[in-house]
Amino acid sequence: MGIKRSLIKELTQKELQELCSRYKLKGYSGKKHSQLVDFLCENLAVPDEEVEGFVVTLVKDRLTAKIKDANDYFLTKRVHIVGAEENLIKANVGGYNIIIENLGRDDFNYTCDERCQDWLYQVKKGRYPFCKHYPAVLAELIFSEMINVDEIRPNYIDGDMLGALRRMVETRKRQEGLIFPKDRSLEERFGNIESDLLPISLQNQVLARDKYHERAELVFENLVNDAFLLLECETIQRRKTGGWDLLVMGTNASPPFIAVVECKTAADGIYEQVLTNPNYLYRLREYCIDLTKNRLIGALADYVKYMVIVAPGFPMEVNSLTFRFSEMTGGLHLSFLPVDSLIHLLRSYHKAPIITHSMIEKMLLREKLITQEDVEQLVIESQREMVNLANKCKGKLREKLQEVLYRTADASFIKLDTVLFEKILTEVVKQLAPDLVRVGTKEAVGVSTYSLMHDYYKVWEYVLNELVKEFVAVLKEQSEQRVKRTELKEEMLNMLDLR
Ligand SMILES: [Zn+2]
Repeated sequence: MGIKRSLIKELTQKELQELCSRYKLKGYSGKKHSQLVDFLCENLAVPDEEVEGFVVTLVKDRLTAKIKDANDYFLTKRVHIVGAEENLIKANVGGYNIIIENLGRDDFNYTCDERCQDWLYQVKKGRYPFCKHYPAVLAELIFSEMINVDEIRPNYIDGDMLGALRRMVETRKRQEGLIFPKDRSLEERFGNIESDLLPISLQNQVLARDKYHERAELVFENLVNDAFLLLECETIQRRKTGGWDLLVMGTNASPPFIAVVECKTAADGIYEQVLTNPNYLYRLREYCIDLTKNRLIGALADYVKYMVIVAPGFPMEVNSLTFRFSEMTGGLHLSFLPVDSLIHLLRSYHKAPIITHSMIEKMLLREKLITQEDVEQLVIESQREMVNLANKCKGKLREKLQEVLYRTADASFIKLDTVLFEKILTEVVKQLAPDLVRVGTKEAVGVSTYSLMHDYYKVWEYVLNELVKEFVAVLKEQSEQRVKRTELKEEMLNMLDLR
């Protein structure tokens, strides 16, 4: 005996498939919507109440997903409040005009742009209460403190949905430096990636739905985005289907680089499409060139150098594609990043943040399937790089001190004036460029500026400790070598007339 048809026939095809996979039914793939409904009615032996509960969750999650979709506009600052009068709000969201009347009241009404498909075919027909442009406007209103959601309850949005809206506003505030993230959230995000990235990449829909309230494909994109954020990269995420999923910016590299990232789940653990679909490389080229590089101007366009596909795993043969991709795109570098390598990279960085963006770029330059061994190698190279950097600084410190020692040191003192002191310091600090320090000039006054990169505090710690040791070593050598009289002694001798 199966379930009631009326319960499930409103679900989308993907949701029906999710229902099949949740209850471990076999043989549902390839079926069309109506066939799936029949199939479930015949085969799903679960009480109606339980299915009903799940359907309610799905519908709620769908609306929450619309709120998350609003991120595409809100976080990229494409929402403009055109007018906010007492009972009439006019806004422009990514070129679409939205009008909201009587927000929070029973006679509430909103209209989206005539070009909004969602509004035309879903909202107007009563299938959904709102399109993604509505929460985008709300987020902007809350962010700019034009409404207070504790006083005005936005229509159709409460509970989890309101929570999602608040989180969006918080993310934007964090991005603009208005609030600081809590350490707890950092550990939590790291923990989620460690435990969930792999099962989610294998399309574990139950985990995705129960913990993240979305389909695994979308959760995977979010977690990958988070992983790059935890590597201190800046990202631009897009939830729209079609086109790239993520742009990752290696801001700390010099010059910065931009990688176009595509996230792919695969139930059996190996993403093969890139090999089997002859048009795949052309699609990737479109993402990098037409949808990214060609839309940027000047240096920004030159920063677009990498394409990275993240998936649970790849067949080894993908390595044969990179050369062709490079030829097709005028020199862009294609890499394949399996989930276990990404987690390994993140773990290594979490333990000690010494893997700089320049080092990550070096790894992407190799154009290959990035294995755990590659990541291991990256850690070793990063350590070597750190030691080299410290040695460079130590050498410079010694060299500069030696220049003054010969002239000024006596039995007790090394003598410096401000000019000398500054000179030594700047020469040493310059050795840290471009990995830890960016040296520039304030053009109007011609003063040098030093931008210190705080993300690599572990590298700083190592280099500074080594510098301290070197400085102490120089002092010790001087203490042991110098016999030249001090000025005090010279003066005494003069006065005592012992010469
Ligand atoms: Zn709309």
